[in-house]
Amino acid sequence: MKIVALAGGIGGARFLRGLRAAAPEAEITVVGNTGDDISLFGLRVCPDLDTVMYTLGGGINEEQGWGRVDETFVVKEELGAYGVGPTWFGLGDRDFATHIVRTQMLEAGYKLSAVTEALCDRWKPGVRLIPMTDDQVETHVVIEDEQGRRAVHFQEWWVRLRASVPALSIAAVGAEESTPAPGVIKAVEDADFVLFPPSNPVVSIGTILAVPGIRDAIAAKTIVGVSPIIGGAPVRGMADACLTAIGVETSARAVAELYGPGLLDGWLVDDADADVRVPGVDVRPRPLLMSDADTTSAIAQAAIDLALELRSAEES
Ligand code: GDP
Ligand code: CA
Repeated sequence: MKIVALAGGIGGARFLRGLRAAAPEAEITVVGNTGDDISLFGLRVCPDLDTVMYTLGGGINEEQGWGRVDETFVVKEELGAYGVGPTWFGLGDRDFATHIVRTQMLEAGYKLSAVTEALCDRWKPGVRLIPMTDDQVETHVVIEDEQGRRAVHFQEWWVRLRASVPALSIAAVGAEESTPAPGVIKAVEDADFVLFPPSNPVVSIGTILAVPGIRDAIAAKTIVGVSPIIGGAPVRGMADACLTAIGVETSARAVAELYGPGLLDGWLVDDADADVRVPGVDVRPRPLLMSDADTTSAIAQAAIDLALELRSAEES
């Protein structure tokens, strides 16, 4: 079985761990979001790729959902002592090493996809992790506060401001001119089906879909998504702030409609949303809280089962 999954950070990574457990024999290709990437202290930081890599590779801080376990923050403190920021982005000492290796390789001329492959040589995530693009795409957010109306990097809005200032708009800057990273389209073409984990529909899945070529390639496939919204709320995080910014209601139904029946074939919603109906999409309710390893792999198994069912229905 060949599976392609699009993924952001925490929601994507946790689902993927369940997917790997549910289908240990499957060849899983993960197309990772790079719209959250940011340069800090001269280093290229790829939060979503690293969250997937650390989670599947056993190095994640489980409670936090991002960053390394057993982390220390000496370098950050020392930078702070020099008055060098930003102080609002939590880069630990172990994490710094990843960004140093990445930056060194990028400066030597390697593409991000090759760098990611090299980093995964250490972490052995058990999936093939490919960034959506090797080109620079950065999500920017237009906000308005006492400093007036301005665009800030997504991380500044999300991490520094905790999305407390409403986003007037969200844009994936550079996406239109970007091309999918090597291997992305081929993996989609070879896949039996495509899965959307419960990742942020706007700044994770939405950003990946904004890379020209990816949407068209996956549209030809059976696609099953897992709702990141349960009972009208994002389970963790502030995805509602992103949906509001693009004028979409925070509900399992509205997210499915955002992806559209043209893309989505099946949609897993939580039992709390059992009444959701989306024309043209096969909606199935089941528990969607990824509370432990077993429930998470059961969610992944349900996504696989639905994808195989819809795929054979399409063929017959
Ligand atoms: P990020 O890049 O770290 O924000 O992570 P993602 O984009 O991959 O996923 C974030 C989304 O995961 C959040 O907006 C939540 O809606 C969703 N999420 C987190 N935990 C759960 C869970 O246990 N179940 C479901 N269904 N969704 C979840
Ligand atoms: Ca993210």
